[in-house]
Amino acid sequence: MTSVLVFLEGTSDELSLQAVTLARSLGGDVFGVEFDGPYAPAVWAAEIVRLADGVDAVVGPGSDRGNEVLAHVSAHLDLPFAANVTEVRGDEVTRVRWGGTLLEEARVHSELKLFTAAPFAFDASPGPPDRVETLRPDLAGAVQAVEHLAPDTGGKVSLADAKVVVSGGRGVGSAEGFGMLEELAALLDGAVGCSRVVTSAGWRPHTDQVGQTGTKVSPELYIACGISGATQHIAGCKGAKKLLAINNDPEATIFAHADYAVIGDIHEVVPAITAELRKARGA
Ligand SMILES: Cc1cc2nc3c(=O)[nH]c(=O)nc-3n(C[C@H](O)[C@H](O)[C@H](O)COP(=O)(O)OP(=O)(O)OC[C@H]3O[C@@H](n4cnc5c(N)ncnc54)[C@H](O)[C@@H]3O)c2cc1C
Repeated sequence: MTSVLVFLEGTSDELSLQAVTLARSLGGDVFGVEFDGPYAPAVWAAEIVRLADGVDAVVGPGSDRGNEVLAHVSAHLDLPFAANVTEVRGDEVTRVRWGGTLLEEARVHSELKLFTAAPFAFDASPGPPDRVETLRPDLAGAVQAVEHLAPDTGGKVSLADAKVVVSGGRGVGSAEGFGMLEELAALLDGAVGCSRVVTSAGWRPHTDQVGQTGTKVSPELYIACGISGATQHIAGCKGAKKLLAINNDPEATIFAHADYAVIGDIHEVVPAITAELRKARGA
């Protein structure tokens, strides 16, 4: 490779920095482009196409925006695009499919390669490229995002941004059972999440759902309470730095993903953790 262009959603955006690490692994000169102004995927893609003249690869973050913009680039250039890549070996890639349940080996048949980096498959710490161009393209007549409505979290930290997520599954037993999870989350300045069984039962709103068809979270700590660990759930929390699983079934799949495990009844374990935290804080 002689040069690789990276589409950045910002020079400190974690998924974009992970894309930079993928770009560096390809070898050659790595330079970035970011955009100032409203989100306008088709226009941004046209700018990337212009900058991509003569480069060997264009890499983006494995975010909704990264995948959408790179899909536009792919359509513009009529070239194949491999999304959510975990490794590149020459023309061959490994990429994540089906919400993290499948790793696909594929061959990319084009000179100019188009990739997005699978979230959390690469280290973000090496930082942004030395050279980053910030563009403010003319958006007249373009489809663009005119307003961003953040979900109403009632002043609490949002699920996507929380450093701690206390998440409940079928094992919680009822909507009322989430009271103990709310209490623990509040003590940890965290947010409450849940599995799809919980939203299907109407115990929590869909905005609280973590997983393949819910929110993807990447907290410092994810506390899974009475959650079995289905692949569709893990797809939403595998970005967590540490996972504490509390489950009364020692064979539960969630333990295979856990850094810390407590085998026990959440109705005893969660209040015990809360009580210990209060004691430690003298409250
Ligand atoms: C296309 C598709 C998309 C999906 N998307 C999502 C998604 O985005 N998010 C998601 O979560 N799921 C999703 N699912 C559903 C997923 O497959 C599982 O069915 C779901 O995650 C299971 O939820 P659960 O772990 O709460 O329930 P269960 O699998 O029933 O597990 C409950 C767990 O609680 C434990 N338990 C019970 N009582 C207690 C107790 N008192 N103390 C401690 N532990 C206890 C049990 O041992 C068990 O492990 C999807 C499925 C499909 C097909």
